Amino acid sequence: MKVDFIVVGAGLAGCTVSERIATQLNKRVLLVEQRNHIGGNTYDHYNDAGILVQKYGPHIFHTNSKEVWEYLSLFTEWNGYIHRVIANVNGKEVYLPISMDTMERLYEREFTAEELKRFFEKWKIKLDKITNAKDIVISQVGEELYELFFKNYTKKQWGVYPDELDPQVTNRLSVRLNRDTRYFTDKYQGIPIHGYTKMFEKMLDNRNIHILLNTDYKEIRDYVKFDRLIFTGPIDYFFDYVHGKLPYRSLDFRFETLDIEKFQNAAVVNYPNNHDYTRITEFKHFYFQKHVKTTICYEYPKAEGDPYYPIPKPEFQEIYQKYKIEAEKLKNVYFIGRLAEYSYLNMDQVVLKALDLF
Ligand code: FAD
Ligand code: UDP
Repeated sequence: MKVDFIVVGAGLAGCTVSERIATQLNKRVLLVEQRNHIGGNTYDHYNDAGILVQKYGPHIFHTNSKEVWEYLSLFTEWNGYIHRVIANVNGKEVYLPISMDTMERLYEREFTAEELKRFFEKWKIKLDKITNAKDIVISQVGEELYELFFKNYTKKQWGVYPDELDPQVTNRLSVRLNRDTRYFTDKYQGIPIHGYTKMFEKMLDNRNIHILLNTDYKEIRDYVKFDRLIFTGPIDYFFDYVHGKLPYRSLDFRFETLDIEKFQNAAVVNYPNNHDYTRITEFKHFYFQKHVKTTICYEYPKAEGDPYYPIPKPEFQEIYQKYKIEAEKLKNVYFIGRLAEYSYLNMDQVVLKALDLF
């Protein structure tokens, strides 16, 4: 059998590139996916109770890229959801990232912008150089807030404290002097109005795209010839781990459906300092779904299992670079996405990379 393109992985990277090839080049794509569904980690579905849930944890789309927003908007409308995250600390519910609102709830007093600035100035630690994910936080707000919000959550999430991780990990949550309580400040944000999976179905609805589910790439590689291959799975797996295994953080998701309409005050509530789980997601908030019951999901980070998070540590980047060199030697084979580039990428970054590759 011969196809123009094989695309491995039906996540955002694989779906975007397949859609472009099929519609813009009018070429045939064989899209191979090891799971029993499309959508990758962004997959959502109705559970037995009839509640729309995200199988692999909370996914909120956000971007400043007009190109990416307009591209995905070809396949979906957006529901206008704005993400707000509550952190449960010291027995209080406060918004994260740290803002004026967070500080007022935490310290039970009012702050003017000037007072808040002075507060942070007093406590922040002056460093010559930012070298890790702890430095980013303590250089903005000092040790106390670092310990309250970041130290233990990060240990649970990554298995190591922030001082062993790249600054980008905590830089995602920069401190604010204003009352903006949104989790993301991007210009465009929301959730596909009928869910992510419906959006993916529309992207792949093309007679040039043939989808093969429940199939690992290595099961078919000897039988299907191709002009070009786009691989979005783990790069170390592709090369049979010749340079060693790249470590990923994994998660256990524990779902519960409850006989109440609402469980918590936001879609996501983080628990930095208590429990083994990092956060609880209640999906109805995302989709504005009305239902007499509600489904929640606890996240328990772990070392083994499905690869979800490439670990941003310098020594693993060194291993990845060896694979990247192998990848560059291959003609007509391209590697994109979170797993193939071993990079902590958001959804919009993945789409942009796929559009650029196309
Ligand atoms: P994936 O979605 O992982 O898709 C890769 C696909 O390839 C998978 O379906 C996999 O089964 C398949 N595959 C792998 N190997 C093989 C093989 N050998 N053969 C066949 N198929 C294979 N980003 C945001 O922007 N906003 C968020 O709120 C957000 N929340 C997140 C929450 C969690 C818990 C996680 C883990 C990630 C989150 N992300 C978020 C990141 C987002 O999930 C990724 O950016 C996005 O899914 C990456 O798309 P991808 O196509 O690169 O990878
Ligand atoms: N983080 C934290 N406390 C929190 C939330 C996040 O320490 O309450 C840290 C943690 O290391 C996490 C990182 O900030 O991995 C980025 O958070 P984000 O919500 O962006 O994580 P993701 O969406 O990747 O799960």
